[in-house]
Amino acid sequence: MVIGIDIGGTNIKGVVLSDKKIIAKIKIPTRSKTNKKIIIGQIFKCIEKLLKKNKNVGRPTSYIKGMGVGVAGPIDFQNQKILNPPNVTGLKGVDLKKEIEDKFKIKAIIDNDVHCLTLAEASLGVGKNKKMVVGLGLGTGVGGGIVIDGKIVYGKSGTAGEMGHMTIDKFGRKCACGQRGCLEAYTNEKGIQKTVFEIFGKKINTITLYNLARKGDRKAIEVWQETGKYLGLGLANIVDALNPDIIVIGGGIANAGELLLNSAKKEMRKNVLSSLAKKTQVLKAGLGEYAGAIGAGLLI
Ligand SMILES: [Zn+2]
Repeated sequence: MVIGIDIGGTNIKGVVLSDKKIIAKIKIPTRSKTNKKIIIGQIFKCIEKLLKKNKNVGRPTSYIKGMGVGVAGPIDFQNQKILNPPNVTGLKGVDLKKEIEDKFKIKAIIDNDVHCLTLAEASLGVGKNKKMVVGLGLGTGVGGGIVIDGKIVYGKSGTAGEMGHMTIDKFGRKCACGQRGCLEAYTNEKGIQKTVFEIFGKKINTITLYNLARKGDRKAIEVWQETGKYLGLGLANIVDALNPDIIVIGGGIANAGELLLNSAKKEMRKNVLSSLAKKTQVLKAGLGEYAGAIGAGLLI
């Protein structure tokens, strides 16, 4: 049995996996983005609750082989250091592996949250049995992961897959990272809000925007199509660089489904060089909101 934890800016989600199947799951609020003590306290609480649930299914704690933990932003994977977490800034530089291992005496591995999501989708979700799976997580930020033959690609320093910050428009919108025109600046929550404001002249939240578009509202559909065009440019760059079997789109924004993905695929095909690679599959993630936690568990 293994534990998987997914630390987000709003919630911390955790699962216990046995033979890659969820036998317990839990979601608790992160409570703070900036206060290290509060965040770590909540992570411990999440783990403690999972261990208790685990006892309820009749297995002792010693059965837990290890714990995987996913956090947004770049991770120094070799040294297991959290570099610059955008959603939980209080964890910057924290040796979370040591904190967890000291407290629970269970081996821990820290990785990027979308690395984990991609691993989960490649192992158990829509990317199952595919050789190369690329994952994009569209939410508060935009993260990415690459999995080849069931293994996460890390690159030299562990940060391979930060595709949210590829430049789509050099003179474009300012991104949270400080640069201009990143994919994230058009396809995360805030980016979509900017497009909403440009088209509607007022604020509309993402869920309302989705419902409006489903009912046929022309402007709402336009926001999703515009967002899809930027996403499609990003996908084309990914396909030209990597030629993956499949690209999996996860995160809260992916719930827009075809409203977003149809225009993204159209734009991707327009911009991909090879006629063969134009057929690259692009699918919505299939494992739902616990995908990141499941993938974190699979790190063990
Ligand atoms: Zn950026």
